[in-house]
Order: sequence, then C-alpha cells, then structure tokens
Amino acid sequence: MTYICPICGYDDLEEPPYDNDGDPSYEICSCCGFQYGFDDLDREYDFEQYRQKWVLVQILQKRYREVKSFLVESTLCWKAE
Ligand SMILES: [Zn+2]
Repeated sequence: MTYICPICGYDDLEEPPYDNDGDPSYEICSCCGFQYGFDDLDREYDFEQYRQKWVLVQILQKRYREVKSFLVESTLCWKAE
C-alpha cells in the first residue's frame, strides 16, 4: 500500500503523512522534498505555501535548463562557424 503526498500528489509514499492520531511520519517526499512533521511543524510552512514554492522552483529549473541548452547550442554554432 502506498500513500499520496498532499503537497505535490506523488503517489508512492511508504507511510501515510500523518497517522490517525495526527502524528507525522517524518518521511521525506521523494518528489517535492517535503518532510511531514518537519517542514510543516518545525519550519511552519503550510501545504499551500510549500506547494507554491515548489512549483516556482520547478518552473525556474525548467527555464534554467532551457536557457542553458540554448546557450550550449549557441556556443556550438559559434564553434561551427
Ligand atoms: Zn510531495
């Protein structure tokens, strides 16, 4: 049985993020990196804040890869000339 991350929707968590008593699993989501019981209770992120931060990072990383590959291609073009 696997569980779904309430932040990013990753569906392969080994434990439920919180048990029936509301105690956190301290598992770290391997998709968004959220650690239940640490990022929310100790670092005081709520799920929506963390999700927004995570989405922003995904967008920036995607953009970074695009710009980087554009620069690499550009450099290859310069070398070819
Ligand atoms: Zn997640």
